[in-house]
Amino acid sequence: MNLYIFDYVVIICISGVITFLLGILAYVKRSTFSGSTTFILICITSCIYIFGHALELTGSTFTEIDGMIKLQYLGLPFIPPLNVVLAMQFLGFDRYLTKRNLVLLFVVPLISVTAVLTNNSHHLFYKAIILKNVGSWVLADLEIGPFYVIHGSYTFGSLFACICILFAYGKKVKSSYRLQLGAMIVASLLPMIASFLYLMGQAPYNMDPVPAVMCITSTLYVIAILSSDMLVIAPIAKEYVFEHMRDGVLVLDPSNHIVDYNEVASCMLGGLNRFSIGQHIEHVWQTQMAETDLPNWQLNKDEEIKRELEWITANGREFVLFHVYPLYKKNGVLAGRTILLSNITSERLLREDLETRAYKDGLTNSFNRSYLVEKGEAYIRSYREDQRALSLIIFDIDYFKSINDTYGHEAGDETIKYVVNKAQSLLDEHVILARYGGEEFVILLPDVMLHEAVHVAEDIRKKLEQRPIQYETNSIAVTASFGVAQFYDHENLNELIKEADKALYYAKNNGRNRVETFGDLS
Ligand code: GH3
Ligand code: MG
Ligand code: MG
Repeated sequence: MNLYIFDYVVIICISGVITFLLGILAYVKRSTFSGSTTFILICITSCIYIFGHALELTGSTFTEIDGMIKLQYLGLPFIPPLNVVLAMQFLGFDRYLTKRNLVLLFVVPLISVTAVLTNNSHHLFYKAIILKNVGSWVLADLEIGPFYVIHGSYTFGSLFACICILFAYGKKVKSSYRLQLGAMIVASLLPMIASFLYLMGQAPYNMDPVPAVMCITSTLYVIAILSSDMLVIAPIAKEYVFEHMRDGVLVLDPSNHIVDYNEVASCMLGGLNRFSIGQHIEHVWQTQMAETDLPNWQLNKDEEIKRELEWITANGREFVLFHVYPLYKKNGVLAGRTILLSNITSERLLREDLETRAYKDGLTNSFNRSYLVEKGEAYIRSYREDQRALSLIIFDIDYFKSINDTYGHEAGDETIKYVVNKAQSLLDEHVILARYGGEEFVILLPDVMLHEAVHVAEDIRKKLEQRPIQYETNSIAVTASFGVAQFYDHENLNELIKEADKALYYAKNNGRNRVETFGDLS
């Protein structure tokens, strides 16, 4: 006859079990779930309340029933403010959850618990607990006192505040987190409606439906959390900043699966889109790998990684600063990683330009003397050790002063450029041609023996001699003299240049437009 009470006890017990399992699930996945502690606390307090209520219904003496009511209140008053905390964490308002604010939030629940536990001495929470027999069951009729009104108002107020915050700030939530948002709203709304119906005397069989509806809210949470795959709560306020950042950002979980990314990141990484959420970062890397050189292999390490990458994109050559920061939880456990992608193309090109200017000669665009000295010394150091061949040519334009005097300084400049172009066209890429002085040039030939260097010098000499330069209406004949030397045991580059210069001097003295070697002089 009173089967409905039995059914009701079964329903709320199921609700308790589901809530308990959900708490365990949250505990297992706590490392990937921001707000997990709050959520676990909600599950614990709900279980205390639900099972306490079930036990209250099954109690038959005043002591049993009174004891179980007290037990319920060790959980019940904390659930609504914990929901507020969870909503705040979900929305990214953690900064408001200071110790002071948390204490303030839980003052009323603590008063309620104290009032319930000490009710028998003051009767301010429940004026009276009257037992009545319903068939074979003993149920309690509770006559509420002033402290209950405070507790009830605070419970309603907290749940209402929770719903308001979620509605107000939940609009910006990413679509993938809408289910979680919906679950949180329903989880706050259902107990409110259920309590309201109960207070209005509209609840089925006049039984408190709140513990029973918690089964629905718990199930909703399970669906929401499992369907979004990763138990991740997206902080919306942070999300706004995240989406409006100039840099691309990717958030990974500890096993390098993509948890979130912003729009800039998806513009920078071709393979990154909404289907990438939950995928391993390697998937995105692999799509990009064909064009770039992304360091996926480094993501297993815990340290910070900083690398400049060159990407070929539709916009051409782009440079990206790739910065990986590990994220740790307060207890030092790795919570995931953030990858920051900053487009540094303009800075990088400017730096390259400045470097180029520092090493290049403005008139001829060949290397300058300081670059020659730096590179030459480095070659001498390593080539001495490895005993490799290294030759050097120095050449100087013949009777250049007279070109300047006859055709003007500009014609002289054009001649210098022409000579450099002709020489450069005959040289391999790794050979260094530098403007050593006004119209004097040095060619450094790594892995080239003296006789080969002489050939190179001869080729240039012949090329210049072959054809005069056409400058305006003038045809200017140009030749140059060459001195060649090979490195064997020189102290430094200067010694090698000096030997080549001696050969050049000899070439000048021997009639110009010729190649001389230092070896032949001694
Ligand atoms: P030689 O055959 O003995 O080399 O005779 P030269 O006339 O070429 O004599 P030298 O090598 O000493 O000539 C250097 C001249 O080059 C002096 C300077 O006026 C001129 N000069 C140096 N730098 C520049 C430049 O950048 N542009 C122009 N137009 N002339 C330059
Ligand atoms: Mg000269
Ligand atoms: Mg000269």
